[in-house]
Amino acid sequence: MAEEKQLTLFEHGDAEDSMVEQMNLWSAEAESNQSTAQAIPSWSAAAHISAPVAVPLSAHPKGLWETSVVRALDLPDLDAVAREAKECRRCKLGGMRKNAVPGEGNPHARIMFVGEGPGADEDAQGRPFVGAAGRVLDKLIASMGLKREDVFIGNVVKCRPPGNRVPAPDEVEACMPYLARQIELIDPDILVILGATALKALVDPNASITRMRGKWLERSGIRIMPTFHPAALLRDTSKKALVWEDMKKVRACMKDFEA
Ligand code: URA
Repeated sequence: MAEEKQLTLFEHGDAEDSMVEQMNLWSAEAESNQSTAQAIPSWSAAAHISAPVAVPLSAHPKGLWETSVVRALDLPDLDAVAREAKECRRCKLGGMRKNAVPGEGNPHARIMFVGEGPGADEDAQGRPFVGAAGRVLDKLIASMGLKREDVFIGNVVKCRPPGNRVPAPDEVEACMPYLARQIELIDPDILVILGATALKALVDPNASITRMRGKWLERSGIRIMPTFHPAALLRDTSKKALVWEDMKKVRACMKDFEA
């Protein structure tokens, strides 16, 4: 009930709605109207939108993704990664799941979103972000003028941790080769990190999402934007405006790639 109430905040006329409308207007008008297109800020032209590669790599230890502990699986394509994840018993979560949730989306996506791990709805359906947090993510994706099918949506762990607890370090480590291979195969321009678990796993085990959200990073030539997890927005609506700011940066960067 509380969750439904908070979701409706997204749906009925609050400040974020007008921001979504504004962003959708941008994307619709940009194609047809040269002057509007010129008015869209680009990260290279607008100082208030932080440029990618703002943080030198040496300032942060390597995330699991790039350590020698974790090697991307030697699998030829995303279907093969998904097949293997569905049979996986690399950690104890494999014995508890209804369905593994390998991730889904466009194999040639320019933007990839990475969350923490499946919840109950995802476990039941075998698909990522299909519950309440997923509806928030859908809105974020739509605010950038994109559809789910345009992007790739994955998770740090592919099987649901019991009670939706944070995945344990050994579970993250066991599962990371799947995500590492998905990132290698998709090779996105932009990776949006959703929440603390993905940030710690992919960038730096000591990183704080509160401190690092909204700041561009780069790993292996991929621009990375950490932001709050969609579920955090359901718990604390004051975070919504910050996430919209982060998505505006992603959108501006995406436009820059398209230019
Ligand atoms: N939360 C996540 O981190 N991933 C999902 O797929 C769903 C909820």
